[in-house]
Amino acid sequence: MKIGITGGIGSGKSTVCRLFAQRGIAVYDSDREAKRLMTEDAALRAAISARFGAGAYTADGALNRGYLASRVFTDSEALADLDALVHPAVKADFAAWAARQLSPYVVLESAILFEAGLEHSVDRTVAVVAPFELRLERTCRRDGCDRESVLRRMAAQLDDDTLRDRADYCVVNIREEDLEPTVAELDRRFTLEAHHRRHDA
Ligand code: ATP
Repeated sequence: MKIGITGGIGSGKSTVCRLFAQRGIAVYDSDREAKRLMTEDAALRAAISARFGAGAYTADGALNRGYLASRVFTDSEALADLDALVHPAVKADFAAWAARQLSPYVVLESAILFEAGLEHSVDRTVAVVAPFELRLERTCRRDGCDRESVLRRMAAQLDDDTLRDRADYCVVNIREEDLEPTVAELDRRFTLEAHHRRHDA
């Protein structure tokens, strides 16, 4: 069984996923894995180079993130093309990874679970939400960045109401001490469900 966990910037989805990992659940960080695949996956590299030119990679083979970012920043068609190359690669990699895991179920962490269509790669979805000011404050404290840039990033993401509507479960992340029992409860639920599924199969 596969669980997708999403949430906007500063909502605490990585913190929630860390708590699942601490409970022995295998967690796939799709943002990190997408970056890895863009460097390591030969077919994806070739497709990115074909679409964006050899400048997408530096002479020593590293992904030229600055160049790619500048190409997609103001060009929505270029961004859609890049997404259309990267998202299927992540989906395939996640499926292969999930098949190798031994935990009763696995967790996929993605800031863009719904936008990337990754919700179709999982059986249940969880949205992590938190009050706007708290998210802003946490992100500024963590990244040391200014409010304006965080607000811009927030505006580009699905809002909490939409996430709540679309997800099967919602974790409201306000007090840190409440998170552990909430994750424990979800873990019990998912473990039981995974057990029933195996039994019924
Ligand atoms: P991003 O999309 O930017 O990666 P995220 O949703 O993964 O954000 P986290 O990195 O988990 O968010 O949390 C943002 C910051 O807020 C982190 O520094 C984290 O330690 C802190 N944080 C998360 N939840 C709480 C909480 N309940 N109380 C206090 N601090 C918290």
